[in-house]
Amino acid sequence: MTLVEQHKRPPARAALEVSFEFFPPKSAEMEGGLWAAIERLAPLDPNFVSVTYGAGGSTRERTHATVARLVKETHLRPAAHLTCVSATRDEVDDVVRGYGRAGVRHIVALRGDPAGGPGTAFAAHEGGYQSSADLVRGIKRLGDFEVSVSAYPEKHPESASFEADLDGLKAKIDAGATRAITQFFFDNEHYLRFMDRVRGAGITIPVVPGIVPVENFKQTASFAKRTGASVPQWLADRYEGLDNDPATRKLVAGTVASEQVFGLLDHGVREFHFYTMNKSELVFAICHLLGMRPKPAQAAA
Ligand code: FAD
Repeated sequence: MTLVEQHKRPPARAALEVSFEFFPPKSAEMEGGLWAAIERLAPLDPNFVSVTYGAGGSTRERTHATVARLVKETHLRPAAHLTCVSATRDEVDDVVRGYGRAGVRHIVALRGDPAGGPGTAFAAHEGGYQSSADLVRGIKRLGDFEVSVSAYPEKHPESASFEADLDGLKAKIDAGATRAITQFFFDNEHYLRFMDRVRGAGITIPVVPGIVPVENFKQTASFAKRTGASVPQWLADRYEGLDNDPATRKLVAGTVASEQVFGLLDHGVREFHFYTMNKSELVFAICHLLGMRPKPAQAAA
């Protein structure tokens, strides 16, 4: 089905849920960009918006400040990411309590990349949470938080097998997680096959596909290598010759990501998590194609 044919279908907006992921800004200028993106996307009334946590807690204060401001100044429901790398339990618990005090009710709990970076061996902090499941349990002990976790349609790069990954996901659910968000992927087949395994393993929680509109192909391809997400040749071909042509890259990015989302929609997927890169244009346009329209009363304060 072509994009034009797809767009002719009646929008399924009533049943759709979206969430948006942001990262905490490093400078005043980036902060301006982030809040402009939030203001643009907020009226789409996302299920939640999440804010990432830098490796090893490097953005601890900035993540906190961003989610606290989201609670104070918008109607949005923020989810704060949290990792347990290179930190004691007490330090991590302090962050969780701080989120709670700021009015955050949802945490995306992650183990985090090894301190030496992706690809190096992971060693849990002696006095810290030992795994993501351990972290989920700790968070649930500290308060009535909703907890989301990660899932990897192409397997986590450190994982020995899909079965080990599914065991890990089950352990996180047993510890209290009620939603998984996937690493980004470009071939929908990876997600669909993964979901067969997930459901086959008796896992029933929502496993929401993470979608990244690729404006900067080179950067995304290099990031994908570290995360274990494969970059198909057809995708590279679509960006061929566009290194110095950001305007065309943006159009291509919107088309590719829309195709991906409509492809998933055709398979019954109704929930999407967008990695926004703190930009609103493409994500807003894709949501628009999906039939979502801004709700004036829901505009950011
Ligand atoms: P886990 O669920 O802990 O592990 C995934 C799988 O890897 C396990 O099921 C298991 O099979 C295998 N595995 C894990 N540990 C081992 C081990 N020691 N030996 C063998 N196999 C093992 N990172 C950040 O720093 N900040 C963020 O805000 C952030 N947000 C993310 C959001 C999403 C939706 C996703 C998908 C990832 C995010 N990450 C983030 C990246 C994540 O921290 C890394 O992928 C990290 O390497 C794994 O943490 P995890 O909780 O995802 O994995």
